[in-house]
Amino acid sequence: MAKKIQAIRGMNDTLPEQTPVWQKLESLIRQTVSSYGYSEIRMPIVESTHLFKRSIGEVTDIVEKEMYTFEDRNGDSLTLRPEGTASCVRAGNEHGLLYNQERRMWYIGPMFRHERPQKGRYRQFHQVGIETFGIASADIDAEVILLSARLWKALGIQDHVELQLNSLGSNEERNAYKAKLVEFLQLHEDKLDDDSKRRMLTNPLRVLDSKNEAVQAILEDAPKLSDYFGDETAAHFAKVQAYLDAAGIKYVINERIVRGLDYYNRTVFEWVTSSLGSQGTICAGGRYDGLVEQLGGKATPAVGFAMGLERIILMLETLELNDDVKGDVDIYSILVGEGTDIAGFKASELIRDQLPHLKMMHHCGAGNFKKQMKRADKSGASVALIIGESELESGCVTIKDLHGNSEQQTVAIDSLVKVLPTYFA
Ligand code: ATP
Ligand code: MG
Repeated sequence: MAKKIQAIRGMNDTLPEQTPVWQKLESLIRQTVSSYGYSEIRMPIVESTHLFKRSIGEVTDIVEKEMYTFEDRNGDSLTLRPEGTASCVRAGNEHGLLYNQERRMWYIGPMFRHERPQKGRYRQFHQVGIETFGIASADIDAEVILLSARLWKALGIQDHVELQLNSLGSNEERNAYKAKLVEFLQLHEDKLDDDSKRRMLTNPLRVLDSKNEAVQAILEDAPKLSDYFGDETAAHFAKVQAYLDAAGIKYVINERIVRGLDYYNRTVFEWVTSSLGSQGTICAGGRYDGLVEQLGGKATPAVGFAMGLERIILMLETLELNDDVKGDVDIYSILVGEGTDIAGFKASELIRDQLPHLKMMHHCGAGNFKKQMKRADKSGASVALIIGESELESGCVTIKDLHGNSEQQTVAIDSLVKVLPTYFA
């Protein structure tokens, strides 16, 4: 036998048994983003490598070690997108969607990062992101957070996630702080791990979210970015909190949240759960007022977030919230006897014509009654439509309730359109 070819490590198939949960999640997301007036944008999966280097930042985990970068046949360097914001801004600039306009957009799709695969961390994973452009005030920061909170509620996970909030200030404030932070880190250099030592020189803020406990202990006494906020930053951050308070959204301020992408300023946030082990962040985002200009557009304020769908699905599984989500069909036909195959085909098509919202699976391949009943059971259908020789003669169909306890009944084919819906009310 030929050797089986397997999927690439960290890139998952979503099997027919699993897709109903994905579809339910996706449809709740669509409903939620539309209820805030967001429109969908679809971007290519492959972009020029420059785009990500210039936006995410050269000295970030993503660009340094996680990108799938390759040369195409023309010798151009291309990259499988590791995230959506850069592409969205690129598209917005390219098609004139951003300048002097307000935009609320969202996207869904696969992202690619070459990380060590583990629970909640994959090499192809899926994100939904929202991006807003042209609004500088704190109300939009709060709106994107409210939108995510509404989704957690719709999914029933609102009590299992915590909102962590921080402000990264302006570029100037951050730069002033960085200098002080580096001074502090240099005093303790002997106690830093190699990664932190390197970050101290290349991207000092990233030392703040080091996972190393010894480093975290040293950071207890580090200077705080919030001490460098000017009036505008402080007022903006206070406003965001006031809007969240008014909406009844709870949060904790976590000054260690710096985010792994360089383009953020002011508000940043993460929704974190303790039910997924160390891959606990299900959604993260913030303000990135400089990115549009950095990618060649006119300066445009922006706020957004991205959420990881695999982690949300894992959460729903852990909390046993998707047990009743199934993709079963509604009706299965059973055709026994000469000529019933043709009559059955007609009946099935009639049902699809007249009741298109029902899932009608037609039995193909003949076989005896028992075999067909088994198939009907396996399909998960709640109703079997039986056409035997007597039904064929009288132009009728027998309806058998497979899960409920309605009496079996034989009705004229013409009245199916009236009778069938009563089984699915
Ligand atoms: P982490 O700290 O877990 O590596 P990140 O800061 O790299 O996350 P972002 O770039 O902010 O993540 O992406 C937003 C969200 O996308 C994350 O909060 C997470 O839910 C999801 N995500 C990121 N990387 C992966 C991955 N490799 N596999 C699955 N989901 C991911
Ligand atoms: Mg990461």
